[in-house]
Amino acid sequence: MKSTIALAALFLLTTPALAQTTPQSVTLTCGTLIDGASDTPRHNVVITIEGNRIKEVHEGAALTVGGIDLKRKTCLPGLIDVHTHTLLNGDITAEDYDVQLLKQSTAYRAIVATRNVRWMLDYGFTSIRDLETEGAGYADVDLKTAINRGIIPGPRMQVASRALDVTGAYPLQGYSWELQVPHGLQFCDGPDDCRKAVREQLSHGADWIKVYSDRSYYLANGRLEDIPTFTLDELRAIVDEAHRERHKVASHAMALYGVHNSIEAGVDTIEHGDYIAPEDLKTMAAKGIWYVPTIYVGEYVAEGRAAAGAKVWVDMININHETVRRALQAGVKIAFGTDIGGFDWKINPAIQFPSLTKLGMTPMQAIKTATSSAAELLGMQQQIGSIEPGKLADIVAVDGDPLADITLLQKISFVMKDGVVVKR
Ligand SMILES: [Zn+2]
Repeated sequence: MKSTIALAALFLLTTPALAQTTPQSVTLTCGTLIDGASDTPRHNVVITIEGNRIKEVHEGAALTVGGIDLKRKTCLPGLIDVHTHTLLNGDITAEDYDVQLLKQSTAYRAIVATRNVRWMLDYGFTSIRDLETEGAGYADVDLKTAINRGIIPGPRMQVASRALDVTGAYPLQGYSWELQVPHGLQFCDGPDDCRKAVREQLSHGADWIKVYSDRSYYLANGRLEDIPTFTLDELRAIVDEAHRERHKVASHAMALYGVHNSIEAGVDTIEHGDYIAPEDLKTMAAKGIWYVPTIYVGEYVAEGRAAAGAKVWVDMININHETVRRALQAGVKIAFGTDIGGFDWKINPAIQFPSLTKLGMTPMQAIKTATSSAAELLGMQQQIGSIEPGKLADIVAVDGDPLADITLLQKISFVMKDGVVVKR
């Protein structure tokens, strides 16, 4: 009886929200439309939205009266960043990182994260893949739940929860062996232990499994080398277990052996990939393995890490640029991921678009990495990533022409997510 009353009260409380979700029709009139799918922009386009979905897209804006007037703006699909850390706030040095794990509770970090996801939406990113909480447990799962329930504003999220590495290979490191310090991820050793860790993370709501495949980078033989973390058997077990349960694997792999082992094991995405051997790029193209180069963050952390003694981070900038150029030539699928959280949340992650065009992408190609391509990486190409009938109404707009000036994407002035205007 008690529960019936509670349910009735809950229903009354939620009634206004339910009323809002009944399909309402709204039109957007866009001066220019970059739809995320086609290679050419269209002009004077009316987008009709019913509820949270796009119903119609047609040219002929001159005829429309009313609705939302974006006639002076360029409309695009909501942007997607496939490599974020919403629970992290900068980690140029070990000290930046350690203080967050040692002096901040998970609750505090989650509160800061609610601000970070709101800023992400404000920047025009309506979907993200969050790739590890850096010691904040499964708080990304909670963040995603709170957004989906409408409790806090934020982008739609796919989350990786805690991530995996082998014992001892990930911070916190360097403390007295007598101390029990927290770590930024979950350790697992041996194929069976790693399978168990995958099962545990999936059971707590991870969408993706994230693995750290290498560490300790150095120049040798004219390329960037590394110390591989997992054995190939361990990596294969992780990938097999995740795939068996219909989940995908993202691999942090920055140099030769980490990338090679990840590809051999069959991961779905290579994160960072500062150096990738030519033959591995070929395999990635042939197997459709995604490349998520995080060009901007590499430039951002280089000087600080060099000052702390690791000069290789400065060399890695040019190596990374060269790898992106080779990947483009090899026809490898590339998606937009920035590692924001690894750099200051006050920096708009759209700052990475000019880095992509400087390395040989056209502005349209660069935009697609953060729209239709990123949606495909997420397996959500039927729902997001382009402005087409039937898709979810995630639409942003900006003054001017981002094809003529790609930096304009850092100044998104209109954001609609799921048919609801969240910035205007
Ligand atoms: Zn990262």
